[in-house]
This record gives sequence, structure tokens and C-alpha cells, in this order.
Amino acid sequence: MDVSANVGRLGAAASAFISKPHKLLIDGKWVVAKGGKTFPVFDPATGGQIAAVADGGAADIDLAVKAARKAFDDGPWGKVKPTERGKIVWRLADLLEKHATELAEIESIDNGKPVSDAKMVDLPFSCELLRYMAGWATKITGQSIPLSAPGEWHAYSMREPVGVVGQIIPWNFPLMMAVWKIAPALTAGCTIVLKPAEQTPLSAIRLGELIMEAGFPPGVVNIVTGDGTPGAALAAHPDVDKVAFTGSTEVGKLIVQAAAGNLKKVSLELGGKSPSFVFPDADLSVAIPGAATGIFFNMGQCCTAGSRLFVHERLFDKMMAGLSDEAQKLKIGPGLDPTTRVGPLVSEEQFQRVTGYLASGKEQGAEAITGGRRHGNEGYFIEPTVLTKTTPTMKVVREEIFGPVVCAMPFNDDDLERIARQGNATEYGLAASIWTRDIGVAHKLARKLKAGSVWINVHNFNDVALPFGGYKQSGWGREMGYEAIELYTEVKAVAAML
Ligand code: NAP
Ligand code: MG
Repeated sequence: MDVSANVGRLGAAASAFISKPHKLLIDGKWVVAKGGKTFPVFDPATGGQIAAVADGGAADIDLAVKAARKAFDDGPWGKVKPTERGKIVWRLADLLEKHATELAEIESIDNGKPVSDAKMVDLPFSCELLRYMAGWATKITGQSIPLSAPGEWHAYSMREPVGVVGQIIPWNFPLMMAVWKIAPALTAGCTIVLKPAEQTPLSAIRLGELIMEAGFPPGVVNIVTGDGTPGAALAAHPDVDKVAFTGSTEVGKLIVQAAAGNLKKVSLELGGKSPSFVFPDADLSVAIPGAATGIFFNMGQCCTAGSRLFVHERLFDKMMAGLSDEAQKLKIGPGLDPTTRVGPLVSEEQFQRVTGYLASGKEQGAEAITGGRRHGNEGYFIEPTVLTKTTPTMKVVREEIFGPVVCAMPFNDDDLERIARQGNATEYGLAASIWTRDIGVAHKLARKLKAGSVWINVHNFNDVALPFGGYKQSGWGREMGYEAIELYTEVKAVAAML
């Protein structure tokens, strides 16, 4: 096997972890896949292999669902008191913090992202979310409800865990997506089968080890890695009560179809083509670096990436010059180099997709004022790219690129209705940002935008307490905040005639 040279940059703990055999976590035990196969995992900075991981399939999913069912129906998880449940979730946060450097290195070599981003964003956010959710464990309540029916009644509602949940996650924030999914589900009292993305399974496996160390009973969290088949098997499984998915809108639609078999509950966090609006009074010293982070963070592989940039024509040239400058300042290199700001895209497939979009943009008349090309000749690096002369009918403007490519368009209008219509002219509705010093303009436009998150003078901003999710084809349901607890609970109404 052609081993990636970056393995030599890993610290001792991460190095020891990735060189181990990587198995499936089922019912508290690490087991090989039923079919006995493994699949290779690659470092996108070199294309070299870094690990081999158990290639789970439908039979493994079935075993995992059985274990989760047992842990939910008969196992101790349902009987664990809320304070104790919260404590175990909190303990997992402590363990993530303790092993933060190791986890950040695993994430960086597997996904390609700068290790500094993993340390500053992915790890702290994951810990904070676990702790935030742990706090809800003791606060999941119902209501006492006055009834109007004749006679005397005592009626109340209660929230119960939805049951066995299947969670399917993408490769852009492998560990953080795992935590976004498991934290509220565990707090609500559900049991889980987690399916990491085939491109980036390693940090979820390490998370599984820490889950066992934190003291979750066997079967509460099961993890099945696999190259292609386990996701579909999980979404279709008749004994799964709910499936939660983050990934492409295309696969989201397949999940909905698969879920129809037993009408399991579905929540979806899908793609986006998020607009940013820069008004003539915007503070460019904030808007320029903000828009740059909005699109270039995580190499643009963010569902909320600010990929359509509408700039008032009075500022357009200044904004473009500033953005190009920012783009060129970003150091490109392997994620494990601590000075790297832009790593490779996650995989060859993703590299080909983004390269295809760059070619299509050029063909349809867009102009790359900065970037637009591959960086180097090894690994899957693409230069941060600013496209101008883009029009609403171009593919690069309509479709989610999921790469470091922003389409900039000038506007000359003060009618917020028309401005909003431009922003809303997409099948997606995940996020939007507004850059202005006029609070009236900011909040009026915020109301008109069809997006689950609207940010003012900032982009790509998330907080554990803020509900997050999409309008239109960007998804169903909201993660984080109390809304995430609602996603993993059913409401029962109890009425007693006295
Ligand atoms: P994807 O195909 O949507 O994969 C996401 C997850 O779904 C992976 O765990 C994948 O497993 C699983 N999956 C694939 N097909 C499935 C099926 N039929 N039933 C159940 N699960 C299934 O995403 P991708 O191919 O990795 O990326 C393609 C595009 O998706 C990107 O370019 C981007 O536009 C979008 N995307 C969005 C997000 C987001 O955060 N919203 C994240 C990543 C990607 P396997 O790994 O086994 O395929
Ligand atoms: Mg895929």
C-alpha cells in the first residue's frame, strides 16, 4: 500500500490509533464486519492510504439495530435518571477535551482540514455542544393542560425518547457532525446506530472508544462504518424509529423514500447556496474578511458556505480587490502543517466535482479574478477562487459547488423585496448573511429571506443554543438549541377523567 507521508507528522497518540485495525462498535464490543472485508482510507493531501476500516453492510446494520433496540427496550439506558444521563454526556465532553490534540490530528489527516481549525473550531464546538445538551437532560418536560370537555379532567403532555435512531453523517466535519447527531439523541434517552461517511470514518471510531470510556451502557451507541451500503440499509431498516441525515439533497430524497417503509421519523440537514448581501454602508474591514471566511473556511465544504455574494455596485471593485487579497494570503498546504489555512478537498471525487464547476463557469463566461486552478500536483488542492461576471442562469450560481469558490454579483437597487427575491432564487434555504450598519435594513431583509439562519455582519456563525436547519430543499427540522431535543422526542398526551 502507498502510505501517505503525512503519517509521519502525527503525534504519538494519533499515530498509534490510526495504525490499529478499525472495527465496528456493536453492543459495546469492537467486531470485524460480517463479510470480513475492510476498505482503505486516504489522506487527501497526498492521495496515500492511512488506514483500513471495517466494511460493514446490511447484516452489520441489522446486528447494530438489534443491539440498539435491546438497549432501548430492555437495557439500562431508559432507567438511567436524568441527572446521571446528563453526567455521562458531560463526561464524554471531558474526554474529547482531554484527547483534543489527538482527535484534531486524526481529523486533519483523514479529512484534509487545517489542524488549527480542527483545534479551534471542531473540537471546542463539539465539547460545548455535548455540555449544552447534557444540561437539557434534567429539563425535558411536558405541560399540564386545562381541558374544555365537560366533566373533571387531569391532562398533561410528556416528552419521551423517540427510540432507536439511525444517524448518517457526511465528511465535511466528521467528528462535529457525529457529535451534533449523538448529543441531543443521547440526552433525550434514545439509542443510536451511527454511520460515518466512507471518506472520513476515523474520528467517529475514536469517538466510539471514548463513548465506551465515558460509561454509556453497551448498545446505546453503535457505529457501523462501510463503503456504500450501510447508510441505505439503516435508512430502510424496519426497526429504526427515526433517521437523521446530513449530506446532499439528492441522498436526502433517497432517505425519505427509504424511510417510507415503516414511516420512521426523518430529519434532514442538506445542501445550500447561501447568499450574502453587502450594502453600500457596510464596514468593509469587517465584510471583506467575513465574506472570505464565509466561503473559504473548510475549503468551502460547508453546507452554509456564502457562495453567492451580492455586492452593491458602489463597493463592488473595492470588495473584489479585498476579497482577492484575502484569498491570496491564505496559505495552502497539508492540514497537519500548523501554519496551513487551506487544506485539500476531501477526496478525488470532490476535487473532480469542483474542477468540473470551475470549467463550467469559465465556459459560461465567468471570470476568475483570483484562483481558479489546482494548487500543486499532488493531493486534491484547489486555490481559493473568486468568480465575477457570473449570472443567475450559470451552473456555478445555481448549484452547490461545495468548494472554495464564490460567485460575486453587483447589485444596484434599494428595494429590499427585489434584493430578497434574488437571494431566494434557489431551491435551497439554509443560510444568508447581510452586511450593513443600518439595523432597519438588516432586520427587514432578514424577515424576507427564506433561510434557516440569517447572520448580520458575520457568516458561518453557529452557537450550541441557536436552532440550525433549512427552509425549502435544505432540510427538515432544526438541530442544536432545544429544537434538537424536540427532534429526538415524541409527545404523549395523557387525559384522565376524574
Ligand atoms: P452524500 O452522498 O450525501 O453522503 C452523505 C452520507 O450519506 C454519507 O454517510 C453516505 O455514505 C451516506 N449515503 C450515501 N448514499 C446513501 C443512501 N442511498 N442512503 C443512505 N445513506 C447514504 O454526500 P457525498 O457524496 O459525500 O457528497 C456529495 C455532495 O453532498 C457534496 O458535494 C455536497 O454538495 C453535499 N454535502 C453536503 C453536506 C452538508 O453538510 N449538508 C455534507 C457533505 C456533502 P457513504 O459515505 O457510504 O456514501
Ligand atoms: Mg457518497
